Amino acid sequence: MNLARFPRIRLGHGPTPLEPMERLSATLGGPKLWIKRDDCTGLSTGGNKTRKLEYLLADARAQGADLVITQGATQSNHARQTAAACAKLDLACHILLEDRTGYRDPAYTHSGNVLLDKLHGASIERRPGGADMQAEMEVVAARRRAEGRKPYVIPGGGSNPVGALGYVRAAQEILSQAAEMDLRIDHLVHATGSAGTQAGLVAGLVGLSSGIPVLGIGVRAPRDRQEANVLALAQRTAAYLGLPEGTVRAEHVRANCDYVGQGYGIPTQGMVEAIRLVAQTEGLLLDPVYSGKGMAGLIDLVRKGHFRPDENVVFLHTGGAVGLFGYPDAFDLPAEAA
Ligand SMILES: *Cc1c(COP(=O)(O)O)cnc(C)c1O
Repeated sequence: MNLARFPRIRLGHGPTPLEPMERLSATLGGPKLWIKRDDCTGLSTGGNKTRKLEYLLADARAQGADLVITQGATQSNHARQTAAACAKLDLACHILLEDRTGYRDPAYTHSGNVLLDKLHGASIERRPGGADMQAEMEVVAARRRAEGRKPYVIPGGGSNPVGALGYVRAAQEILSQAAEMDLRIDHLVHATGSAGTQAGLVAGLVGLSSGIPVLGIGVRAPRDRQEANVLALAQRTAAYLGLPEGTVRAEHVRANCDYVGQGYGIPTQGMVEAIRLVAQTEGLLLDPVYSGKGMAGLIDLVRKGHFRPDENVVFLHTGGAVGLFGYPDAFDLPAEAA
């Protein structure tokens, strides 16, 4: 696999640390839990979209774009990292935010990621929940083209074969870190949404014959649809990489969508417990929409004995803690002493 032939603009800090979670492992009494810190990619509080944007924005530059258009839910971490990356690369950035939750709390609609989108200079338009966001972006792009601009449209989550290369690269990084540390990784677990992260990891880990299974914890779609989305994108990514057809197969793609709760971006009891537990055992911040539900899934699977005690399980922290400020009332926090 020769990733160096694809243009990339370095945006993030890397390699991100791969660290043990000793207190969480001891508290749960399960396998050895590790964390890959992609919340520390550096750009505007970090997160998994930074690795994808390194390839997407290199492609935008190569195509002579002067404007980037992308979309996400109101508290989109992808939108925030895109806005920051565009600022750094002197590209205009226009964001369409979909009201997927219907929340009217001003903290949700204007704080957290939305505040940072604006601080990075992006322009924002809103769309109602259920809108065809890809079509909405194409309409905006056509309008801007007619005005003489050169827009580059990035799909939600940066999830296409170009963006997924960021997680092929992450797979290489994880394998070389594990080799250096003499760490046998038995499972890699992370929150999966628009599928690019898992697709890139699977294409990379399978393409490199690692034997490491990836489990995506879903945050939106039911399992069948999520696995189909990841498989399709992993196969397109493998083809883009030039891997032989048939390299990535259905058996390589596993999602568990039992922790979504009522829907995308809607808090669950498990998410609240997971965020609190990790905050209070490891001093780490997860987010309410993705990594909190991903960790809720991991914790529940540990408690159900899904992993052997001697196994090493790596949780990929995909970032997003800024989203906590969009959900100030989700946590039922203790009152202060008078
Ligand atoms: C986007 C996102 C994910 C999901 O990654 P996909 O590539 O969209 O599947 C997970 N965690 C956080 C914090 C995210 O922002």
